[in-house]
Amino acid sequence: MIHKAPTVKLISATLNAEALIARAYGICTDKAVPVANIPRWIKAGHESPLEHASATFEIACSRVASHELVRHRLASFSQRSQRYVDESDLQCYMPTNEQRTLMFDALSTAWETYLQLVDNGVPKQLARYVLPNACMTELIVTANFREWRHIIKLRTSPRAQPEMQEIARTIQSLLVAQAPNVFGDLTNMDNISST
Ligand SMILES: Cc1cc2nc3c(=O)[nH]c(=O)nc-3n(C[C@H](O)[C@H](O)[C@H](O)COP(=O)(O)OP(=O)(O)OC[C@H]3O[C@@H](n4cnc5c(N)ncnc54)[C@H](O)[C@@H]3O)c2cc1C
Repeated sequence: MIHKAPTVKLISATLNAEALIARAYGICTDKAVPVANIPRWIKAGHESPLEHASATFEIACSRVASHELVRHRLASFSQRSQRYVDESDLQCYMPTNEQRTLMFDALSTAWETYLQLVDNGVPKQLARYVLPNACMTELIVTANFREWRHIIKLRTSPRAQPEMQEIARTIQSLLVAQAPNVFGDLTNMDNISST
């Protein structure tokens, strides 16, 4: 099966996250802080209170994108194992480009070789060396709000991998809906450069 797009689901988030964060700002200043003041503190660079809230996403994407995601060291990950899980059903991400036929042929050849190796008794953990980067994988990713802000800034940049941009933009829109005072200023990050 060929996938044209990654999927992202918000599966868990801190309850009353903005109230919790505002309370943390309030402890710092010994004054009640309304949630509407959160953006002001973020702008001032006082971001550690954002670490009290977190969100968890279930993501299906290529192993190209998952390899990039897992570089974010402050997030926690659980990923579908290619060593143990049966990959005999072809699940690949196909990027939009003009050479679809050539790419599809290469993916099909790799997948057929994988099936042949497994049929010949080669363990999955060894047969998987022939599988392409386009293979779909599934992850559960948890990070605190400060780290999600960081990931969104880096990965929605036009310089980021297109599939990764798509994932980051979906995460961004889900988090803006969840906590607008924390993520609302990230609604247009197109001009932010990444390193
Ligand atoms: C457009 C783009 C191109 C890239 N190209 C490449 C590439 O060619 N090769 C490559 O290897 N990687 C590449 N990367 C990955 C990049 O270098 C980072 O590994 C990745 O973006 C994770 O970001 P991070 O390290 O800022 O964040 P995280 O790991 O999410 O950490 C968040 C923040 O915590 C702090 N932090 C975490 N760990 C440490 C630490 N050990 N010491 C000090 N501070 C720390 C930093 O401030 C960091 O920004 C690329 C990323 C992007 C967005």
